[in-house]
Amino acid sequence: MRRGEFQIIDRFFTYEGFGEWRSQGIGDDCALIDTGTERIAVTTDMMAIGTHFLPNANPEDVGYKALAVNLSDLAAAGASPRAFFLSIGLPERDDAWLAAFSRGLMSLAQTSGCALLGGDTTRTAAVGDVRAPVTISITAMGALSEGKGLGRAGARPGDDIWVSGTLGDAYAALKHRWGHWQLMPDAAESVFERMDRPTPRNALGSALLDLATACADVSDGLKADLGHILERSEVGADVLWDAVPISSALRALSASAQQEAALMGGDDYELVFTAPEALAHRVEQVGLLTQTRLTRIGKIREKVSGDNLTVRTQNGVIITTPTNGFDHFAV
Ligand code: ADP
Ligand code: MG
Repeated sequence: MRRGEFQIIDRFFTYEGFGEWRSQGIGDDCALIDTGTERIAVTTDMMAIGTHFLPNANPEDVGYKALAVNLSDLAAAGASPRAFFLSIGLPERDDAWLAAFSRGLMSLAQTSGCALLGGDTTRTAAVGDVRAPVTISITAMGALSEGKGLGRAGARPGDDIWVSGTLGDAYAALKHRWGHWQLMPDAAESVFERMDRPTPRNALGSALLDLATACADVSDGLKADLGHILERSEVGADVLWDAVPISSALRALSASAQQEAALMGGDDYELVFTAPEALAHRVEQVGLLTQTRLTRIGKIREKVSGDNLTVRTQNGVIITTPTNGFDHFAV
């Protein structure tokens, strides 16, 4: 049985399909909806200051990242960003905050060709004299050709597991900001950039449409998001720790800190995907073409009872982490 936020979704928000518009079913990064001749990918993400952003987060970064995380879900589906809707709850009117938020939001909207087509603006609820902090919900839509689109359900035993970029940077940034870990100034700056301004991998996602068998973005942590692929695809996986791409900023940390950051740290918005071994050289070409670092970190295998995802070092030592990743309602 699934736990935490996924148990809530399973129990209260999953229904048999009805109505004319259908998707492939809940559980992927986007719903792929066929509206006739067009296929549209749709995703929605809600974020609150204090939960998804630090209480004093720079509003320009908040605007950028609120859209970036949605574009990242479109990337995971291989969809090209086209439009988004913005719903925002504000405790008060603060024009300086709003101007900066809007700058960050619209800069990414423009460079990604994703137009703001509507939304809603409300005041947040008050408890006594205190109003709830800024809450943002963005729904983004992307275009796909008929019948195309990546999901989490197609991984097959023998497939390679790939990730883009490096993992664990955003988590290390948070740990540094909380004072739990100490990074050198240059390293801290580079991981802050990764936490505040993640790069949605849309060009990569689109280029993988005919290559990847399954794809997800790493928002909750590699073990959690690869875990979603394994669950949906009903397969298992072996990951080689030594192959997991770690930035030089993180290399200065202890081995266990690197493992915690890269395996269970979320918020990197890289893509984790699977592809048949025979297509490995084509995946490498896509990396070159889209100027994205791509690394093969393991293999999909048959599902066995017990642990479905095994991470080992080159010497065969199994690596464990306190949790698999982030869950808003972890129990
Ligand atoms: P992501 O992290 O990629 O945004 P989630 O892990 O939040 O995706 O969600 C997993 C799946 O559950 C997605 O397919 C999402 O659309 C669906 N989902 C999440 N919350 C709800 C809800 N309240 N009602 C219906 N579907 C939901
Ligand atoms: Mg996602």
